Amino acid sequence: MAYIFCIANQKGGVGKTTTTINLAAALAAIGQRVLMIDLDPQGNATMGSGVDKRQLAHSVYEVLLGEIGLAQARTPSVWGEAAARPGMPTYHVLGANRDLAGAEVELVNLEQRENRLKHAIAEVAADYDIVLIDCPPSLSLLTLNGLCAAHGVIVPMQCEYFALEGLTDLVNTIKQVHANLNKDLKIIGLLRVMFDPRITLQQQVSDQLKSHFGDKVFNTLIPRNVRLAEAPSYGLPGVVFDPAAKGSQAFIEFAKELVNRFQSA
Ligand code: ADP
Ligand code: MG
Repeated sequence: MAYIFCIANQKGGVGKTTTTINLAAALAAIGQRVLMIDLDPQGNATMGSGVDKRQLAHSVYEVLLGEIGLAQARTPSVWGEAAARPGMPTYHVLGANRDLAGAEVELVNLEQRENRLKHAIAEVAADYDIVLIDCPPSLSLLTLNGLCAAHGVIVPMQCEYFALEGLTDLVNTIKQVHANLNKDLKIIGLLRVMFDPRITLQQQVSDQLKSHFGDKVFNTLIPRNVRLAEAPSYGLPGVVFDPAAKGSQAFIEFAKELVNRFQSA
């Protein structure tokens, strides 16, 4: 059975997509069979997996509307020249592009509108150890489909002044989904990303997070690392673009921590 995780935070630019594609590659690198689902009409996770969102044969949009099965719509990640290097981890991609922006409206009148993704994943779940869902920066019907499909949520966050405040909405949404729609759903953990230990405020917020959320805060810290930011312009996760970079190594550590966490749960 596959473990299904949403990468969610209603704020934009906090590192959701970077976390999703690098965690997908890092999990693949440690031997997990991974499906990455892009639920954001921006299609950044699709592009960052080497798949051109403008040339998708099929996308998550058609899957949500029930026009095609996930088994026909998925495609392997594409590494181009980097694929020639030995041991490059690959994963499967269910891509997204701007078509998905229209799905929000079209889904409203469909039956089981919040469970469409869950049913689609069930068809292929046996093929994977882990499914990662990159959510858009909103608490929309698309995000709701992600939350209804998932066993848990991974929340990437920057240790900034308003970080805790911003979490309240997300935590409340997760509680509501848990109570009304998906009994399995829980917060797997908070991942501190773009972390710079030299900034005192970040240390302070990090300490606050730990006292508030205890062991829900992952031990692994993802540092601010320019290689992770450069990689998407090559259509690659940092873990593939520059496996030796500090940021890439941190994602490999995080992948191991995550696997240990749910295997012991
Ligand atoms: P979101 O998906 O939440 O909108 P992104 O993953 O797209 O956020 O990240 C926002 C920006 O921050 C991107 O330009 C990305 O390259 C950059 N970024 C994310 N994580 C890191 C990191 N650890 N180090 C440096 N830059 C990062
Ligand atoms: Mg994103």
